[in-house]
Amino acid sequence: MDAENHTQHIAVIGAGIIGLSCALWLKRKGFRVTVVDPQPPGSGTSSGSACTIAEYGCIPVNSPDLFRRLPSLLFAKNSPLTVNRIYALRRLGWMVDFLMHCRAHRVEHIINELGGLLAHTWDGLTPLLDMTEARNLIEERGFMHVYRDQREFDLAWSANQVRSKHGARFTPLDSRDINDLEPNLKIKFERGLLFDGIYQVLDPLALCERYATYLEQNNSQIVQARVVALREYSDNVKLSLDNGETIKVDQTIVAAGAFAKFIDGIGKLTSKLDTERGYHVLYRDQQHLLSRPVSWHFAGFYATPMNLGLRLAGTVEIAGYHKKQNARITAYLARKAHEMFDLPETPDQTWLGFRPTFPDSLPAIGYGTDSTRVIFAIGHHHLGLTLSGITGQLVAELASGDEPVHNISALSPSRLDQGNS
Ligand SMILES: Cc1cc2nc3c(=O)[nH]c(=O)nc-3n(C[C@H](O)[C@H](O)[C@H](O)COP(=O)(O)OP(=O)(O)OC[C@H]3O[C@@H](n4cnc5c(N)ncnc54)[C@H](O)[C@@H]3O)c2cc1C
Repeated sequence: MDAENHTQHIAVIGAGIIGLSCALWLKRKGFRVTVVDPQPPGSGTSSGSACTIAEYGCIPVNSPDLFRRLPSLLFAKNSPLTVNRIYALRRLGWMVDFLMHCRAHRVEHIINELGGLLAHTWDGLTPLLDMTEARNLIEERGFMHVYRDQREFDLAWSANQVRSKHGARFTPLDSRDINDLEPNLKIKFERGLLFDGIYQVLDPLALCERYATYLEQNNSQIVQARVVALREYSDNVKLSLDNGETIKVDQTIVAAGAFAKFIDGIGKLTSKLDTERGYHVLYRDQQHLLSRPVSWHFAGFYATPMNLGLRLAGTVEIAGYHKKQNARITAYLARKAHEMFDLPETPDQTWLGFRPTFPDSLPAIGYGTDSTRVIFAIGHHHLGLTLSGITGQLVAELASGDEPVHNISALSPSRLDQGNS
């Protein structure tokens, strides 16, 4: 299904959901594509998500409210949002930058940019699902927010109004509605919202594997190696791999998620890239407990029925790249599974993933500063699965020299070089 016929060879660094989606879109445009990743396709952060195609997800973690909550977060022991004090001090510049983007006018800017991009979710996703025959890996089940009481519901109302302004359709629920829709919930949630028309992926790793198989069966190579350095020249880009080999290509897509910052030569924006660590716990074969993903909003996670079982996924931990899983956070999720479903506090699996995040909670999509051959597609934080298709489409349009389907000037990587993130 190569729609156009470009003779260029393009390398994609990273075989997560973003890199694979870029590779597929480039393939559709007729480019010769090589994907490079030391790990199996999709096995990074993309494998462990909450599985939702979160078109309603325009509200960032950045919020004016964080200024007030920050002192308590630094000392929180039982919260879905935790900040490691030592790491925060070491990354003080990033933290301050993040807080600067919690001012009301900046948050409004982020919401509008995310909302604009999210509106194109299906433009980018549908062609990839059709091309790779992956429609059996998604299902329209809707999605539910639940609130313990009216106070929580009211606190979330203004954000929900903003979601509605950006196209989300939802129906308010009372406790009886919630119980009718999800009879296995053991906690009484007095209020809720039922979002219509929302899809979920049934297994995000399987989706990545399907994409990778399609690429390999259609003349694209997936090279198992780590890119250690990237150098751009007037007529090519050279990638140095950890196995000592070099790949020379016409253009390169940097889609290595949170770990892109460790590639030598990708520029100043790496200092602005950090990670919001997120966790899941999985209860195998317990997917029958829910009919749709349910987010316990103020507890900071989603409970999602998926092919493998029931997954409770979410939380945000600012603690960098090197610390091991925080047992306190997995215990927190397991405790919530017990309260919510009467499941044991010992899940079948615990998992830590690394959301790639810039301080302004916007992805970087576009050519690097002064570059004509290196395109960035990183920083999708909580929305990488949702935005994967449209990101791939935008990247392929840029690489082809076509007018992008959506104005991405605010997502330009150069905003991060300018200390303007
Ligand atoms: C708990 C949790 C729940 C989430 N829920 C949702 C959700 O419901 N909906 C949603 O839309 N999003 C969700 N997300 C966010 C989403 O999972 C991420 O935004 C997305 O997976 C990021 O994809 P990626 O391809 O950029 O990164 P990754 O999946 O991390 O892939 C990057 C790849 O690059 C490779 N790589 C790194 N360095 C190099 C190198 N030097 N050379 C070559 N390859 C390299 C890595 O090995 C990896 O395979 C969630 C995230 C978490 C943590």
